[in-house]
Amino acid sequence: MSIAIQFCGAARTVTGSCYFFNTPTGRFLVDCGLFQGPKTLKALNYGAFPFRPADIDTVLLTHAHIDHSGLLPKLKREGFSGPILATRGTIDLCSYMLPDAGNIQETEVAALNRRSAARGHPGVTPIYTQADAITTLDAFRPVEYQAWYKVIPGVRARYWNAGHLLGSASIELEFTGQGKDGRPLRVLLSGDVGPDAKLLEPDPEAPASLDYVICESTYGDSDRPPTTGTLRRAHLAQEVCDAAAARGALLIPAFAVERTQELIVDLVDLMDRGEIPTAPIFLDSPLAIRATEVFRKDAASLDPDVDLNRLLASRQLHLTETVDESKSIARFSGFHIIIAASGMCDAGRIRHHLKRWLWRKEATVLLVGFQAQGTLGRFLRDGTKAVRIQGEEIKVAARIKYIDEYSGHADGPELARWIAARRTIHRGVFITHGEEPALKGLVDRIAERTIPAAQIFTPLLDDIYELSTTAPTPIDVPRRRRLAPESVVNLDWHNDMSKLLLDINEQIEAAADDRARGVIIRKLRRALEQT
Ligand SMILES: [Zn+2]
Repeated sequence: MSIAIQFCGAARTVTGSCYFFNTPTGRFLVDCGLFQGPKTLKALNYGAFPFRPADIDTVLLTHAHIDHSGLLPKLKREGFSGPILATRGTIDLCSYMLPDAGNIQETEVAALNRRSAARGHPGVTPIYTQADAITTLDAFRPVEYQAWYKVIPGVRARYWNAGHLLGSASIELEFTGQGKDGRPLRVLLSGDVGPDAKLLEPDPEAPASLDYVICESTYGDSDRPPTTGTLRRAHLAQEVCDAAAARGALLIPAFAVERTQELIVDLVDLMDRGEIPTAPIFLDSPLAIRATEVFRKDAASLDPDVDLNRLLASRQLHLTETVDESKSIARFSGFHIIIAASGMCDAGRIRHHLKRWLWRKEATVLLVGFQAQGTLGRFLRDGTKAVRIQGEEIKVAARIKYIDEYSGHADGPELARWIAARRTIHRGVFITHGEEPALKGLVDRIAERTIPAAQIFTPLLDDIYELSTTAPTPIDVPRRRRLAPESVVNLDWHNDMSKLLLDINEQIEAAADDRARGVIIRKLRRALEQT
């Protein structure tokens, strides 16, 4: 019998997670995530899936993050009619996050279409709407950790706590009679793996003795200094005190779920202890406000040492849900804290705040999580001097700071240990969901030490492997690829273009006088004519 896996996301340098399993008894997906990052990748969200949605019997979802769940409403809209199995925590979070994602699609497409119409270009339709997302929620079926569930005939699944986010899971699969000598074929998909000592979450758990392990590598090349709650709070306190001394706003672009709640807990605690100046904290994200409610509700299942309810009830915390409330934050000058989504600054209200503050040297932007290639957050982190937000060029004068201790991801050594703890791994390890250096970093950590290098695979987007053979066998299907391999691996040309335009503007402005500007423009013109 043939069991094929197609890497329809989470492949080399590609963010959105989606694995398609094709077997004679049925077809199912693990995750159906939205592509994030460079425009070439985001364009895939509008294109066709590499399978027919109506053919999919079941979806298994590892966790609620949009790069794992964000295309479920599109799948549903295009004909998927089966169940989506997820933990209760994941279902609670998705019930807010998916409608929010639908709303973002609708508003962004409306704004884009206004700009396109002004330039005489045709408009586009949103990938899906808020209504599509709400319909999708009916398909969710709750699962418990560490219990078996039937996926399709001959395949069952078991969820393990991945310690990455409320409800997050690694998923174990068993294909009856498909392993060596008629034993079950056993496959483990990591989902996103959490770090060992994470606020609010337990350490990741998973089984051992498998045929295949498919593991993410987001931070595969990083080696974080070990941290503790005390060190993390001290680092945050230092950044907050510096921002207060600069007398401007402290903008924290944060992922609405979990990162935001962790930050609030630490900020309120530090204010209560007098370790940072007391100031208003604006939580400016309707989604983060909803997610905070989920955390309040599930407080009992989280770390018992954190008095979540007391901290979330602080008088310093202002929830600005409506657009008017959000706009009223602009009345504040001097030191105040604004936490708004999205964490990589590529959508959401944080962009309005950045537009208002980025060009002021008294402002501080504190990045608190992974910044994917091609996102505004990544440009800021890399020290760019100007950015474009909603078509407008904005100089970066604000202090840009970064702290890593709130990461929801295991670092390189933790991922390598997680894989090593799964031994024996009989047939192969697929390393996925990471940019080129991160993938290579993790491969180097495990090659020969944990598993022979020949048994490690780093598939490209849309690669297909046969898993029922003694070693994974690539299957060649003509014209299956949605992207040429080189366009996946290379940094997007849109990014290079934006950067070039910003550099040209900067050079011309910095020139001594109009004559010098004229010379630069003529030289550029000549270079252009020679190509
Ligand atoms: Zn995640």
